[in-house]
Amino acid sequence: MNAKITFLGTGTSHGVPKINCECAVCASKSSFNKRLRCSILIESAGRNILIDTSADFRSQALKFKIKTLDAILFTHAHADHLHGIDDIRAYQTRISPAIECFGPPEFCSDVKNRFAYIFLEKMPMGGGTPRISLTGVTDSFEAAGVKFTPIPVVHGSVQTYGYRFFNAAYIPDVKFITEESMKLLYGLDILIIDALRLRPHTTHLNLDEAVEIVKILKPKKTYFTHIDHEIMHESESERLAGLGLNIEIAYDGLVIEI
Ligand SMILES: [Zn+2]
Ligand SMILES: [Zn+2]
Ligand SMILES: [Zn+2]
Repeated sequence: MNAKITFLGTGTSHGVPKINCECAVCASKSSFNKRLRCSILIESAGRNILIDTSADFRSQALKFKIKTLDAILFTHAHADHLHGIDDIRAYQTRISPAIECFGPPEFCSDVKNRFAYIFLEKMPMGGGTPRISLTGVTDSFEAAGVKFTPIPVVHGSVQTYGYRFFNAAYIPDVKFITEESMKLLYGLDILIIDALRLRPHTTHLNLDEAVEIVKILKPKKTYFTHIDHEIMHESESERLAGLGLNIEIAYDGLVIEI
């Protein structure tokens, strides 16, 4: 085993249940239909690498007992993937080193504008701020001892990455993958990819579109994530199993080894 992946959250931007929604999925008592905002934790050689500080990061850190953070990779700057950033303070003292963070170059300048207080020369009095070293990446790089390759994908108008590491890839927000990026995704053991809902969406793959990508890339195993409240885990899992493509719908708390 190279690493362990824990799905900290498998939900779309509003989470499931959605506030004030009484649909069958939001009302479901099944834990498979309770989805925090999208994020995974990769544990490799005793080190913890987080992908995205989701809007639910504090709850996820408590629920999954995340004791340390050695590096953070960001996919893009949408609120559901980023706004837990302040909570990484819990892993730092005033003198501990900055946590190494990586993301698309556009993400880095966006974060420096939107979260300027994090990057002030002098830490403000009281409360403290997260301390991160933020590096924009375009080629393969190493984080906490693991090699990652950015996979640029199209997801609306923001520059967005998936990441390939060992023989797995994680692509939580995507509508379209260029031929160039598809070439980086062949021969996978594990593909974790966006499959938002049943109906088409302007910036996310829906279930059928994600299945088409699986048919082209032919990973050994696929997990769908970034799921909204149109997808009832149990019934859609059964339908996907019938396709014989080894696709599962991921759920919060799912742990896999790669
Ligand atoms: Zn998202
Ligand atoms: Zn609902
Ligand atoms: Zn997004």
